[in-house]
Amino acid sequence: MWENNTQEENAVKVCSFCGKRQDQVNRLTAGSGDVNICDECVDLYREHLEKEAGKPVDKVKMVQVCSTCGAHPPASHRYCYNCGTQLIQG
Ligand SMILES: [Zn+2]
Ligand SMILES: [Zn+2]
Repeated sequence: MWENNTQEENAVKVCSFCGKRQDQVNRLTAGSGDVNICDECVDLYREHLEKEAGKPVDKVKMVQVCSTCGAHPPASHRYCYNCGTQLIQG
């Protein structure tokens, strides 16, 4: 039964980003679904995320998200205009 071979290959986990096998990296972290990421790519990905996050910070700071009702009050508001929840600044 050749069909079963693919399942056996899946038992060896590889990094979904660089393709290194679990035994070739210090640590392989399982993500959602079939996605795995090795410790090297975690560092790269984190740097990438931080760079990406660095751009829209100004936009994000202009609008807050109320954790109670999900409204988007302006950053100048200390209380949610919708439900009155005190908003956390910064
Ligand atoms: Zn990797
Ligand atoms: Zn609210």
